[in-house]
Amino acid sequence: MTFELRIRGLVQGVGFRPTVWHVAHTLGLSGDVRNDGEGVLIRLSDVTEEDIDNFIRKLRSDLPPLAEIEEIVVHPASEFEARGFSILASAATAPLTGIVPDAATCPDCRAEIHNPKDRRHHYPFTNCTHCGPRLSIIRAIPYDRASTSMSVFPMCEQCAAEYTDPANRRYHAQPNACPECGPHLWIEGAAEGDPLSIAQACLHEGGILALKGIGGFHLACDATNPQAVQRLRRRKRRYAKPFALMARDLDVIGGYARFDATAEQLLRSPAAPIVLLPAREGAGLPSEIAPDSHELGFMLPYSPLHHLLLADWEQPLVMTSGNLSDEPQCVENQDAIERLGPLADCLLLHDRDIVNRVDDSVVRTMAGAPRLIRRARGYAPAPLRVDASFVDTPPILALGGDLKNTFCQLQGRNATLSQHLGDLHEAHTSDEFVHTVALYRELFDFHPCHIAVDCHPGYRSHRMGKELAQALDVPLTEVQHHHAHIASVMAEHGLPIDHPPLIGIALDGLGFGGDGTLWGGEILLANFQDYRRIAHLEAMPLPGGDRAAVEPWRNLYARLAENELLQDLSQKYPDIPAIAFVQEQPLDLLQQMRARGINSPPSSSAGRLFDAVAAALDLHKEKIQQEGQAAMALEQLALRGDHTTPP
Ligand code: ZN
Ligand code: ZN
Repeated sequence: MTFELRIRGLVQGVGFRPTVWHVAHTLGLSGDVRNDGEGVLIRLSDVTEEDIDNFIRKLRSDLPPLAEIEEIVVHPASEFEARGFSILASAATAPLTGIVPDAATCPDCRAEIHNPKDRRHHYPFTNCTHCGPRLSIIRAIPYDRASTSMSVFPMCEQCAAEYTDPANRRYHAQPNACPECGPHLWIEGAAEGDPLSIAQACLHEGGILALKGIGGFHLACDATNPQAVQRLRRRKRRYAKPFALMARDLDVIGGYARFDATAEQLLRSPAAPIVLLPAREGAGLPSEIAPDSHELGFMLPYSPLHHLLLADWEQPLVMTSGNLSDEPQCVENQDAIERLGPLADCLLLHDRDIVNRVDDSVVRTMAGAPRLIRRARGYAPAPLRVDASFVDTPPILALGGDLKNTFCQLQGRNATLSQHLGDLHEAHTSDEFVHTVALYRELFDFHPCHIAVDCHPGYRSHRMGKELAQALDVPLTEVQHHHAHIASVMAEHGLPIDHPPLIGIALDGLGFGGDGTLWGGEILLANFQDYRRIAHLEAMPLPGGDRAAVEPWRNLYARLAENELLQDLSQKYPDIPAIAFVQEQPLDLLQQMRARGINSPPSSSAGRLFDAVAAALDLHKEKIQQEGQAAMALEQLALRGDHTTPP
């Protein structure tokens, strides 16, 4: 009989068809395989059901590392004449959509760059269908070389031969390259010398290196050199936020931090995120790496350039995003020369353009499972699968909030989240947001029938959603911030679309509430469609409005004053630093503002409650440098506490 196998999932641009070809050859089956708009279609001629079972079993066990099968549907098909097994050109009618995330260098490519006999020995842009850049280099679909930043590098004869040979690991590897035909490295301003050796020398001398990576620039220095780390902090004007670290291998990481099997798996995964790990006491890293924190954010090298740069490093390197304090990471050479030039002693550049900024992802493990804190490189734009009951929902574009923005395209069961973009108040990031929304719509051939925005009328994402809904003539829905938080957790846990209301708890900084006030510590009775606010933290004034978010003492003051504790505590405990500090403030003025409700909006924010408690404990009471800093210091303090004794 003849059968058709329809395969859906992450099966395009990951070496899937060659694997199918291999499996068919091994089992001696005839037929063909092609990509189309739905995924991959395989036809097998003159086979038994047992052959099909064997075929699927072997296909699943030989799956290329970046492929993921969502489903395989088998049905009988009309007969055709097959001679052997062949890979067909893609069906012209349906566009190839989607793209897989950027992936860390695979073991085979790693072996090649360290093998003196290989033609890619020491070549920093080595990749294959199992690894390398994807989202970061794509401009348009279909995903082929011409629509990526590799279009300016015509393949040499040898690379082209690899690219067209189904038996080769580089069959249809769009960024395929070698020293003869591909991108190259240089040190800005240095005409001669080996760029990698110059960069290494800079690091060994305690210098700061700016280097171009996969999804953006990094600033690097020797993490064990306190002067270098301090200098980097000063120049970057980033005084508080922990620096990420990169180490050559797990042995090096093990000297500085502890990790369990889950964390190890994350570190070694193709996504290669930054994993937050408990630091080893007295391991000898300067405290400036992660002030206030007992955790270190480690990642392993994920590009050949990193592997070559770190080859002889027994210590970790700081590998922090290449930017100045709150700006987004640089992606362009000229921009990096201008913005990072003054921060770095040496710039290591290359000529493969980064088309889309994709920051390093950040993960921590909690209760034995990975929890994504920043979902970007290595994860986006792989879709999250939601429950089957979502399959008939019309395509929805949800634009997210303005802080730590990501947006989401819901298409059938696939919720495709963009990479973390950042804060839309920042002009660069706001432009990137517009660009990335347009890019994703094209990559996934996505035509929204509905647009969802946060109900905060002042949000940039809100205004842009309104404009887009008008332009596309589709309805716009405003969603309450914390209802969105709870609904996304419901979706993540695979609840069906008609799930009865449940109790959701959202502990947050600030979000625009359903009654027009600022919410943030909410207990909602919610389903996917609606919610009722059943309880919340007591609303407290935010004296000074926005300033209350950066000056934690204001939140302490508000709580003490509202509860009429200030005078009493001041008399009993005048020496407590937080009390003494509050006493020094212009309390009459604050009192008047509070009494008249001037610039003191009430808010049930959980974040501001944490800030108040942190301030009371003398943690960053005066001013914070970054969002959540006081709360994080409080968390670190709590983690060190005794959790076994009841209060
Ligand atoms: Zn590879
Ligand atoms: Zn080549």
